[in-house]
Amino acid sequence: MAHRVFNFNPGPSTLPLPVLETIQAELLDYRGSGMSVMELSHRSPEFEEIMDSAIALTREIFDLPESYHVLFLTGGASQQFAMIPHNFLAQGGVGVYADTGSWSAKAIRESEIVGRTHVAYSGKTGDYRRVPADDELQIPADAAYLHITTNNTIKGTQFHHTPAVNPPLIADMSSDIGSIRREFTRYAMFYAGSQKNLGPAGVTLVVLRDDLVQRSNDSLSSVLNYKTQAGKKSLYNTPPCFPIYAVKLVLEWIRDQGGLAAVEELNARKKELIYGMIDGHPEFYRGTVEPASRSWMNITLRLPDEELEQRFVAEAKQAGLVGLKGHRSVGGIRASLYNAMPLAGAQALASFMERFMARA
Ligand code: PMP
Repeated sequence: MAHRVFNFNPGPSTLPLPVLETIQAELLDYRGSGMSVMELSHRSPEFEEIMDSAIALTREIFDLPESYHVLFLTGGASQQFAMIPHNFLAQGGVGVYADTGSWSAKAIRESEIVGRTHVAYSGKTGDYRRVPADDELQIPADAAYLHITTNNTIKGTQFHHTPAVNPPLIADMSSDIGSIRREFTRYAMFYAGSQKNLGPAGVTLVVLRDDLVQRSNDSLSSVLNYKTQAGKKSLYNTPPCFPIYAVKLVLEWIRDQGGLAAVEELNARKKELIYGMIDGHPEFYRGTVEPASRSWMNITLRLPDEELEQRFVAEAKQAGLVGLKGHRSVGGIRASLYNAMPLAGAQALASFMERFMARA
């Protein structure tokens, strides 16, 4: 039996053990092909089946109607930061953004490079401790879209509602995709890098409505144009075959557990264990965000001083709980409880927190 720790890394991050076991079992000879998925042609029937299943599973899990395209692209979520304004600002509208943390700020920066950009809300002065309510969003009449970041991986906040707004809503769901139910058809587009809740790094799931695809900018280079990517069903160039295969296995794992409702229920139990410790011991474990905006995926907290935080991270590692250091830009502690973190991992962390506090 391999030695496996509880991996709280923010991404790349823990993967479901059954998925890794399937990959291991199928590695050398994928279903009688005599080769691994890494060696298959992206035009082979075997890979075609993998891609078709990944798309069908995405449609099923997120309950998407036919009007949505499901794409698997490269370049990470960061490339979407660029592709969105390049495709949708050429027609003259304004790129509108809610700034809820570093990743939103990076998306805004890319939009500013390309065209007219408006920040509808900025949480910066409040140290990004919460996400905005709808009436705090200032949206101009000529908005081409409103872009939000549903889960802020570094600061540990999350939208628990879908903003009700007029312009097409576009969401970076990189760090909470597939972990919680949402009204996905209220989003004109959502996207996520694979390396947190979907699989290994290397592919980006991009879901967008056909009317957005039709609006995309035809004067762009082909590879950056959503129309090319949708028209070629993500096979305009060689796709990242192996990450797509792993994502397909993760999507099957989500479906087999009972889909988003079941996954969400488990995630609720996991985050309650850790927030329970924070709320029960506010003099020792201090949450860094407003409770109504708390992320279920990335729980951020501070201890009474930095020396204790360093000891916490080091001793947790000794106890088999790895990856708890906060992002270098904010410090403190961050526990990432993505879908693949089992309940036992959250339980082990909560009891470590109890023991550490008693000793400190
Ligand atoms: N958005 C969010 C919310 C993220 O957490 C990250 C990565 N941590 C990114 C975007 C950037 O993703 P990528 O590295 O795939 O470009």
